[in-house]
Amino acid sequence: MKTLNDFNFENKKALIRVDFNVPLNAEFEVTDATRIISAKPTIIKILEDGGSCILMSHLGRPKGVQDEFSLGHIANVVAEIIGVEVNFVSNCVGVDAEEAASKLEPGQILLLENLRFHDEEKKGDRDFAEQLSKLGDIYVNDAFGTAHRAHASTTIVAQFFNDNKCFGSLLAKEIESITKVMETGEKPVLAVLGGAKVSSKITIIENILDKVDHLIVGGGMTFTFVKAQGGQIGDSICEDDKMELALEIMKQAKAKNVQIHLPVDVLAADAFSKDAQTQIVDVNHIPEGWQGLDCGPKSKVIFDKVVNECKTILWNGPLGVFEMERFAGGTIALGDSIAEATKNGAFSLVGGGDSVAAVKQFGFQDKVSYVSTGGGAMLESLEGKTLPGVAAILE
Ligand code: AMP
Repeated sequence: MKTLNDFNFENKKALIRVDFNVPLNAEFEVTDATRIISAKPTIIKILEDGGSCILMSHLGRPKGVQDEFSLGHIANVVAEIIGVEVNFVSNCVGVDAEEAASKLEPGQILLLENLRFHDEEKKGDRDFAEQLSKLGDIYVNDAFGTAHRAHASTTIVAQFFNDNKCFGSLLAKEIESITKVMETGEKPVLAVLGGAKVSSKITIIENILDKVDHLIVGGGMTFTFVKAQGGQIGDSICEDDKMELALEIMKQAKAKNVQIHLPVDVLAADAFSKDAQTQIVDVNHIPEGWQGLDCGPKSKVIFDKVVNECKTILWNGPLGVFEMERFAGGTIALGDSIAEATKNGAFSLVGGGDSVAAVKQFGFQDKVSYVSTGGGAMLESLEGKTLPGVAAILE
């Protein structure tokens, strides 16, 4: 796996695919610069080597050229975060881009206009990718968030660089973290899967049963498993057409020696509302008119014990409706348990969708080993798929 450390960038122009798809407010100000900050180590390493950086990214979902999606809006924020002036060019290919790139001196940064102003980007157009490739000497992919897309700048462009291509430090870290969980992690390995629906996690569950020793199933998914085994789930969320699959998963887990842990009690509510009446009930005896919206106190104790027995932990999906404070307790308790296990030497990776939001909301991001930056890319990795953007560098 080639990384930045395999190259000396002195007098080289690095063409870097970054993920600067940051949120902007109505005044076009960046409201969360996490993605820009995440790209800083790669950019700094190249500049310190004596190279220059050509940054390319998409922003939003423009239909053709739309000024509101111009990366020009964020050039000043990039400059502020990196601490180096940023030159901006209002096209990512063509004469202007080529001229701006050719003038670039060591230590300088050039930011290209939004890649998705050209339809060819998402189509993975070969000619467009070739035009991009003319701008730099070494291709660096540091955009995990788009690594599951075979777009021109994330995948196709790599074929024009022969051996002169590598992962940036962010993407390398993402790959290392996933590998640690899925392949080389110290045992026992635990996956915690929460969230709303079994249907969106089936491929992950099936792939993960070969990798883990313990699987905690929480959140809304719980009730499909509970009902399938004959429990009464009241009005809790359930996918009846997935009950058979849930039983099959339990059977497979047994055959593979994977212990599945479901909540034993829940915080049930008489409405999906922050103002609902609530009560703690056994997960198998939820009364009609009530729905489980978080795991209960006994479950928290059981999950805490499992988490603290494990040396490698993957967490995807909240254990309850954490968006409402009253039903966030199970998710927070799990975060506390994982933080403690991490402090005691376990490796913990949080990734994919809402668990990242939950971890940030409750301040756990510095208490776990790694928080993934890419929702879809992370989910596809957990499903066992090879990401095209990663494969393109390895080829
Ligand atoms: P996902 O995107 O699949 O990870 O699902 C995340 C969503 O699952 C969050 O919005 C949670 O509010 C929701 N969720 C978690 N537990 C429950 C539950 N017991 N009932 C309904 N929704 C839930």
